[in-house]
Amino acid sequence: MDDKVIGRINQCIYCGSKTDLTDEHVIPYGLNGPYVLENASCTTCNKATSKFEQDVLRKLLFYLRAYKERYRSRKSSFPEKVPVCVRTSKGEKEIPIQIADYGAVVLLPEFPSPKKITGEESRLGVEIRGLFLLRIGGINAEQLARKYGFIELMLTTTYRPSDFARMLAKIAFGFSVASIGISNLVQIYVQEPILDSGVSIDRWVGDSKKYRVSLKKDTVVQIVVDSKKVVHGYIRLMGKLNGPTYHVIVGVVSLRALLFRPSLLLSFLFRIPVSTWVVNDPTLMLKSVPGFNVSGGISLEDRNSKKRINFRSVDK
Ligand SMILES: [Zn+2]
Repeated sequence: MDDKVIGRINQCIYCGSKTDLTDEHVIPYGLNGPYVLENASCTTCNKATSKFEQDVLRKLLFYLRAYKERYRSRKSSFPEKVPVCVRTSKGEKEIPIQIADYGAVVLLPEFPSPKKITGEESRLGVEIRGLFLLRIGGINAEQLARKYGFIELMLTTTYRPSDFARMLAKIAFGFSVASIGISNLVQIYVQEPILDSGVSIDRWVGDSKKYRVSLKKDTVVQIVVDSKKVVHGYIRLMGKLNGPTYHVIVGVVSLRALLFRPSLLLSFLFRIPVSTWVVNDPTLMLKSVPGFNVSGGISLEDRNSKKRINFRSVDK
């Protein structure tokens, strides 16, 4: 995948430092985003953002990567089988399932709308209303249950939902910088919560239901300025697998920039997006296979990172 440079910033977009600068991959590599902001993050901030980003991606995408690798070549270092918790007529147990049969399952959190919009009080950690289950490849759920002799699959994921929300904030902020310019943002809401997990993020990140924005399947990010000069980022990861659209409230644009930049003014007046970005991931063109049915939502405070998200997925 070739990098696409979308801006050269020459200062850290998180702390303002002008030394020790590195390039910023706006959408992490693991999600196949080619977009790069050059000289846009100092090494200290880069360390902080990479840490939560890598943790989310490793846990969220491990089996997707394993599946993709196996799909591309048979000589893969990834395991051939996935350990999966199942319930059989005799009780619960963990069994190995061939990746070719299982495919890949990605669990994305379902958030409420950003608290800034709903007016509710912010909390540390984020609430999860449920999970979106995205599946690529594998055999259908009924066949899978018959072949491996189980009644119910129990899927578990362990990334922190607030880290996922911070990753979304980082993506929206990066594209806002690319399309609006950091000096044109008079206020940036997400800077602090991106860098510091002790600052609540649920005020700025959530679902996009309030504004009923749903991005096209190949669109990953859209930046919009509203009639109050507030910058909004809409993000759709894995749209080809019907992943949800998330909403990030990034900050506030300056009046001066609005008056001098037609794209900002058009957005301010008519909500025409300032910019729209697409991804093209050939693996995600693979057909998703239906057959899992999420049977229960969960709600979670993730202050304790050891807590797990457990939910059941029942074959139809
Ligand atoms: Zn920095």
